[in-house]
Order: sequence, then C-alpha cells, then structure tokens
Amino acid sequence: MSAADVPATAPTAAAAAAAAPAAPVSVSGLDALFTNPVFAGGIGLAGLGAAAAFGRRAVISGVAMLRRQMLVNIEISKRDPSYTWVLAWLAQPRDNTGFLARRLTRLRNLSVTTTTKSVSPGRGSVPDDVQGRTHADFRVQPGFGRHIVRHRPGVYIAVKREKASTTSTATGEPHETLTLTLMWPHRHVLGDVFTEAHALAQSFQQGKTVVYTARRMEWAVLGKPRLKRPLGSVILDEGVKERIVADVRDFLAAQQWYTDRGVPYRRGYLLYGPPGTGKTSFIQALAGELDYSVAMINLSEVGMTDDLLSQLLTQLPEKSILLLEDVDAALTNRKQRDPDGYSGRTVTASGLLNALDGLAAGEDRIAFLTTNHIDRLDPALIRPGRVDMMVRIGEATRYQAAQMWDRYYGDIDADASGRQRFLARLAELGLFGDSQDPAVPKRHTSTAAIQGLFQFNKDDMKGAISMTEGLIPRTFEP
Ligand code: ADP
Repeated sequence: MSAADVPATAPTAAAAAAAAPAAPVSVSGLDALFTNPVFAGGIGLAGLGAAAAFGRRAVISGVAMLRRQMLVNIEISKRDPSYTWVLAWLAQPRDNTGFLARRLTRLRNLSVTTTTKSVSPGRGSVPDDVQGRTHADFRVQPGFGRHIVRHRPGVYIAVKREKASTTSTATGEPHETLTLTLMWPHRHVLGDVFTEAHALAQSFQQGKTVVYTARRMEWAVLGKPRLKRPLGSVILDEGVKERIVADVRDFLAAQQWYTDRGVPYRRGYLLYGPPGTGKTSFIQALAGELDYSVAMINLSEVGMTDDLLSQLLTQLPEKSILLLEDVDAALTNRKQRDPDGYSGRTVTASGLLNALDGLAAGEDRIAFLTTNHIDRLDPALIRPGRVDMMVRIGEATRYQAAQMWDRYYGDIDADASGRQRFLARLAELGLFGDSQDPAVPKRHTSTAAIQGLFQFNKDDMKGAISMTEGLIPRTFEP
C-alpha cells in the first residue's frame, strides 16, 4: 500500500499530535496541577526548604563575614619560639592578685610537663630529712582543644591548641599549632601577650644558661636552663682562662673590622687535652659570662652526618656559642661508608671543614671545638676562620691544685697550712709530673679527680689530704 492509499480518516498519532494546538492542552494541565492540593502543598514545602537553606547559607556567610570583620586570629606554629613562651604565659600565675591563677582555672583541659631532680645525698647544705629524695617540678599548660581565657576584665582570648596528623620531618613529632582569637577592638592586646610571654620566658632564663642540642634536624633545648656557672669556678692553669676570655671579648667588639674587610664574622677555638680537665665546664661558664647559650653537638654521636651537621650549623640559635665536642671523631680518612659496609653515618673530616666554613655569617659566631686526641685531627682544621686559637687544657698543675684547694677549704684553712700539706703530698706522689726523684714515677692527675676528692671530703681538710693517694691514676694491666 502506498502512502496515497492511507485513508484520511485514520491519521497517524504523530500527525495528530502535530496537528493538535499545544497551548490549550498545557494550560489546562498546569491549571490541573496547581489546583491539585497535593502538588501545591509540595511546591510550598520545597519553597520553604529552599528559603531555609538559603537563609542558613546567608547566616553562615554572615557569621563568617562577621568573624572576619569582628575577630582577629593569630596562629603560632610549634616551630616558632613564641609557641612555648605563649603556652607558658597562658598557664603562669604572674602576680599576687590571683588574676592569672583564676585564668588558669578557666582552662578545662590541661597538660602537665614534669621535671625531676634528685636531692643529692652527702653532707653540707642539704638537710638530712630530704637527702636522697626527688624534687619534682610541674608545669601546667593548656592541653589540646579549645579554651577561653580571660586576659583582663572584659577581654577574652579564645585559645585553640591543635595537633596535626602530619609529622615534622625535622623532629619526627606531629606539627602543633596554637591559635589565639580576639575581638577586633581588642587586637592591640596581642602585642601585650607576646611582649609579656617573651619577658616571662626571659625571666625563666635569668641567671641561667640555655643549652641546645641537636634533635634530629633541629636544635632543641636540653633539659631546663641551668644556673650560670661562674667563670671563677673553673680553674685552668695560670692566665689561660683570662687569655681566652680576652680574645673572645676582643672578637665580639670587632664586628666592624670584619664587616669592613668582608671577612666572615666568626672565630674558632680548639681546646685539647685529656678528659676531665674542665674544657666543657669552661665553655659553659664562658657562655654564662657573656650571656650566651650553648649549642652543643657531639661529633661521635650516632646518626650525625655531614649533611645534618652542615644544616644544624646554618641554623644556630641566636646568641649562642657553638660547641663541637670530640672533633677527632671526624677522622681524616674516615669515609661516610666504611668498606665493611657498617657504620655509614658519621661526620667526615671534609664534612666538618665544609660545615665550619659555611657557619652562618652576619651574626657573631663563636665556635669551640674540643678533642682529647689532637694528633688525630685533620691539619686543614687548624686554619684561621676555622680554628683561630688553640689551647691545651692539661692535667692539674700546682697552680690549679692550690686554687682549687682555696675554693673548697679557703675559709677553714686560714693559715694555708692545709694547702701546703696537700701540695707537698701531691708532689711526693709525683702527681705534678715534675718529680726529680728517680724512685718516684712522673705522673699526673686531673682537675676532675681533685674536684671529686674535695667533694667527697667536704669541709674535711684532713680527710682530703689523707686520701690524696687516691688521685694516682690507675693503670690496668691487660
Ligand atoms: P672535659 O670537658 O675536659 O672532659 P669537664 O668540663 O666535663 O671536662 O669536667 C668534668 C667535671 O670535672 C666537671 O664536673 C667539672 O666541674 C670538673 N672539672 C674538671 N676540670 C675542672 C677545672 N679545671 N676547674 C673546675 N672544675 C673542673
């Protein structure tokens, strides 16, 4: 059948649809929809829902805008020195009004850091009933989470202490942040917070020496700041201490000289000699005298490598004396990877030289190197800019023994007869190494050993003299 044969009375559905007028059908459909109460109710609800969602979003963005306009946030990373200062400040009662003590009670979630110290036994200033006990220091800080603290009447600070899930590659510890939030009109308070926190941190360190040590790839404070050691308590041979101190002071006064000549502003000292002669003690006392801290690295420490050393030396803490102990550990021929494949992580001699040469310029840099084995050092180390002054700190001399005696027994040995007997006994035993008697071997003792003898015999001169023989170094037969 052809198309022409299709009867006119039987149009196809498509043709019918095309031919039919569209508008009247849809209008009547919508009318039907809108007049349908179920449908109209649904639209109404949907409209209400949309309005509520819009309203909620508007409120959220309004609050966010208000927060931006009205609040001020400051985020402090744990890597920043002010992190610990502000934490300590938040927890510290500062005055007698109890105001800050009240502030602490508003922190609901606290954490505590405890340091213990044993009360040393022995005679002297420590009362018998507390000897052998442990003294504990608790420092309470805001814990993780949110806190509101009242800074002063009408001024509140919201504190958020967070621990991130990521860890620092430098320390291996989780990142931490502290966020302080204040009302915008109170923003000037932030300045006070940091100033007070810094002043408080400094007051903790007043009269103390801070010692930094390498923790992984960063410097970290070693224990609590120690009481400054008086220079007078370290007894070196006649004039030695004075010579080094004068040199350091000259250096510190000569920044312009270095700047004018484009010479890196650093000075290196090498103290060498047997152990227990006061090298480390002297450097710590010198740091106290200059009000510097000590940044200490032991080169024989496991895990210390060339890269790590050079990284640490480029980020030395401000106003610190660098103390590199046991520099002989960086032996001339030592490779980072030994042929036997063992102990691949050491500092090489060239690594040490490079690290010293790269010692950050700009600020004054004082480096003290110590060794018990001068003969093992790379001669290239002893060059101006790396080591500018070498001093042997040796076994106890007559001068040192006498000075030490006076420090311990000066007040009870008014006529110095005890000192004379002690020195005579040391000479008799050949402990000054200058005995002319062939029957007496030439030998030495250390200042550490003399200190030990005197500490054992506190206020007991006779006891010390009678035990002088104990200073003879022991030789162990194989
Ligand atoms: P080194 O670094 O030379 O090995 P230390 O400075 O570590 O020696 O001294 C070890 C101990 O002996 C310390 O307790 C220190 O007080 C004491 N000591 C050693 N030498 C002296 C000295 N010359 N004057 C005062 N104390 C000393």
